[in-house]
Amino acid sequence: MTAIRGQAQPAAGLKASGTESDTVIIGLEVHCQLNTESKLFCGCSTDYRNDPPNTHVCPTCLGLPGSLPSMNRRAVEYALRVAKALNCQVAEEAEFARKNYFYPDLPKGFQITMYNLPLAEGGYLDIEGEEGEKRVRITRIHLEEDPGRLVHMGTPDRPRYTLVDYNRSGIPLIEIVTEPDLRSPKEARRLLNGLRTTLEYLGVFDGDREGSLRVDANISIPGSERVEVKNISSYKGVEKALTYEMTRQRNVIRRGQKVERETRHFVEARGVTTSARSKEQEHDYRYFTEPDLRPLQVRGWVEGIVLPELPAARRDRFMAQYGISPDHARTLCGELRLAEFFEEMAPCGNPPLAATWVADTLQGELNYREMEIGKVPPAHFRELLDLLQRRELTDKAAVEVLRQMLDQCVAGETVETPAQIMEKNTLGKTAGDAFTPVVREVIAECGDAVRDYRAGKGEALNFLVGQVMKRTRGRADPKELTRILKEELARGGT
Ligand code: ZN
Ligand code: MN
Repeated sequence: MTAIRGQAQPAAGLKASGTESDTVIIGLEVHCQLNTESKLFCGCSTDYRNDPPNTHVCPTCLGLPGSLPSMNRRAVEYALRVAKALNCQVAEEAEFARKNYFYPDLPKGFQITMYNLPLAEGGYLDIEGEEGEKRVRITRIHLEEDPGRLVHMGTPDRPRYTLVDYNRSGIPLIEIVTEPDLRSPKEARRLLNGLRTTLEYLGVFDGDREGSLRVDANISIPGSERVEVKNISSYKGVEKALTYEMTRQRNVIRRGQKVERETRHFVEARGVTTSARSKEQEHDYRYFTEPDLRPLQVRGWVEGIVLPELPAARRDRFMAQYGISPDHARTLCGELRLAEFFEEMAPCGNPPLAATWVADTLQGELNYREMEIGKVPPAHFRELLDLLQRRELTDKAAVEVLRQMLDQCVAGETVETPAQIMEKNTLGKTAGDAFTPVVREVIAECGDAVRDYRAGKGEALNFLVGQVMKRTRGRADPKELTRILKEELARGGT
């Protein structure tokens, strides 16, 4: 991978945070696919979903002799947005280089990337670290093209043959390189989440798209050699790979051996890293300036870019404007679509109630069903909040209504309104006297508890409430029930 000077050096003040063996130093190189419509150096479409292999190709992205690259302006614009949002200094002039290596996924025999003169340097992103708010420095950001995709047939031990698909060849990527500022696999995961959120707010990235993210991670124990774990392709994978690698390196040191400086691969299916290459196989990339592209002039360009509201600003605004808790604001703003959904709910008149129901209840139910927020009908959800607000539904009954709505969404059925679902399941009417007959029934049947209550034993009331709850299958609001029970008991009826 790109040799980044300075990456191996731990940041100052490292030892203060613990003994050597429980500290770990992590830096990331994150490749994100920019969601442009065409490739970086040709007009081929980047949307190849459901299309056969090698159908989104042309002489340029197949690297045929005589073809020439031409620059995708939108890709540069997107990369500049990212650079600005991550507080980087943008270069006045950036330069493409050829990174030479021979592998079937690279039809030209080289990858066009930026080397000596990257697009931007020296930025940062604030994340929630192990010990509170933490600033992670960004070393550099550059543009490059993606290679093709290889599909190995057979088993890892007995590969039979390999298929090549160049639909991905030439897809625009930005590579974001961090300083080795991360101190745990969890912090690495949080940084990735932060990057994903920021890039989605900028409208340049779709984190759900297959192949949209690829991470190489450098990880070392202070005083030992650094290991590069390559080609991790999921958010969870990064945390898993780094946790495995951290434990492996500690065990090597514990046995009195030395950690080898090497490149390793993460095998996602088994959750382990394996040694990828020995030193004598390491590539010499023979970088040199790409002669077919002129230096990229970005002077003055970045000043004209107007950024949208970013996650941190939105969090602050949510707290100030809606009076919701920092935790809710963080959860809601951690995903663009979730934040937008919440804002659609805010006119319900009780934003903290909406925040609880969107950030906690709805999120939980969506995760359980592996469902996207985009599929939830906003008008239905708002009606549910209105019913809660007017106390026509208990929390428990509202969860039941929500579950039925979501199940209908998943099944692709017409989604009923909360009112319809309440009607069908007799879930409503928590207030008033709907439960009085049941209360009277319970008082009549539980003479012992009633006597205990009148003798001043407070816990007897809880027992009676429980009995009514049981018979009404949780539809009643416990507070409301307690009130009705007390009234009925005071009346002296048995
Ligand atoms: Zn092409
Ligand atoms: Mn790269």
